[in-house]
Amino acid sequence: PVVTRFAPSPTGYLHIGGARTALFNWLYARGRGGRFLLRIEDTDRERSTPEATAAILQGLQWLGLDWDGAAISQFERAPRHADVAHEMLARGKAYKCFSTPEQINAFRETEKAAGRYPVFLSPWRDADPAIHPEGAPYVIRMKAPRVGETVVRDAVQGDVRVKNENLDDMIVLRSDGTPVYMLAVVVDDHDMGVTHVIRGDDHLNNAFRQQMVYDAMEWEIPVWAHIPLIHGPDGKKLSKRHGAVGLHEYATLGYPAQAMRNYLSRLGWAHGDAEFFSDAQAIEWFDLAGIGRAPARLDFKKLENLSGQHIASMDDAALLHELQAYLQAAGRPPLTDPQADMMLRAMPALKERSKTFPELLDKATFILVARPLSPEPKALAALDPVSRGILSELTPRLQTATWSRETLEAVVAETAATHGLGLGKIAAPLRAALAGRTVTPSVFDMMLVIGRDESMARLAEAAV
Ligand code: GLU
Repeated sequence: PVVTRFAPSPTGYLHIGGARTALFNWLYARGRGGRFLLRIEDTDRERSTPEATAAILQGLQWLGLDWDGAAISQFERAPRHADVAHEMLARGKAYKCFSTPEQINAFRETEKAAGRYPVFLSPWRDADPAIHPEGAPYVIRMKAPRVGETVVRDAVQGDVRVKNENLDDMIVLRSDGTPVYMLAVVVDDHDMGVTHVIRGDDHLNNAFRQQMVYDAMEWEIPVWAHIPLIHGPDGKKLSKRHGAVGLHEYATLGYPAQAMRNYLSRLGWAHGDAEFFSDAQAIEWFDLAGIGRAPARLDFKKLENLSGQHIASMDDAALLHELQAYLQAAGRPPLTDPQADMMLRAMPALKERSKTFPELLDKATFILVARPLSPEPKALAALDPVSRGILSELTPRLQTATWSRETLEAVVAETAATHGLGLGKIAAPLRAALAGRTVTPSVFDMMLVIGRDESMARLAEAAV
């Protein structure tokens, strides 16, 4: 069975690069009846914070990436990592190295001065334990192969090779007994049963050393898939100056999570020329073969377009639910029950051509405003005396009309006709009276959504 994982270091917010890595792992597992696990790599006690862990979990939850089982803390597994280091020692795959940091530095300096790449070769590698200094501090180092090459077979990068003479005997356990990160990752991935490691290609170089740990322990090497990083629209390394880089920023900009999933899945992966698709399709289609070797570029225009398509395609109730979540993320007051009811009724009109939640809410201003309305200047201009006169004629007719689209349309058309006006001429002041805006859904949609009493009250207010 397929097991993937996302292994963030909790040192800050969830970056969109990390979110994309998590998404790829989630898609891969979900498409194969596999498991998607979460491991918090909190071994760096200086830089790891509980706030960062919380922010990452929250980001994953917002993005809708559910993980299986409880999140695992890497730090808490340190005793197990140390056990493995000792087991490597017992198997003759590692050794105690008593070289002091001063000796190692001196060695490095000499090598560099001689123009050589300083690969430290410990004199303790093959030393007889009988000559080990008693009570002296030591680290545990892996016995790396000295000849030949190590090949990382990567599902994205192909075979990547390194000459073993360029790899030193990596420390796996420090003199204070703490495991190094490189060991922890392998032990955790093995113990968690991870079959596929999908992560940023900034970790490709780590795979060589990690693979040695697998070999030393005779553990099965997972499938590696190192994905190219995300770049800015200009092709340069992604940074804040390009725009939003934290997943939470996209949430507050008002993109629905499903649009974000669609968009992120296309950053570095493709399925034919499919751009707009559902989660079910992404889960069905996602594969490692579709991951490209070139860095993906952020494309905000594309995100906007996808977002608009998702909003238009979403179920009204689901949309309302996400809208409430958006309001919360943006620190805005939640919709009241009556507002939520009206919002639901207006949704078919609101979701047309809204690219983001702020755009949709802007169209919904007529639902969110309270009387007395404070019309925008342009709307105020539409309420000239003549128009107000027509509105006061229209009001009693609407008062007694059946509150259906058909009748409302008929009444408004009739009133316009008596004045020899087109429908547009009367719709403008009506719109201004109902919403205090010049750009809104149709006046009939608005009247049907807010109902007779509220419509009458707004018309009366505008007619004076
Ligand atoms: N903790 C690493 C990071 O945040 C990921 C390590 C891995 O995926 O193997 O970049």
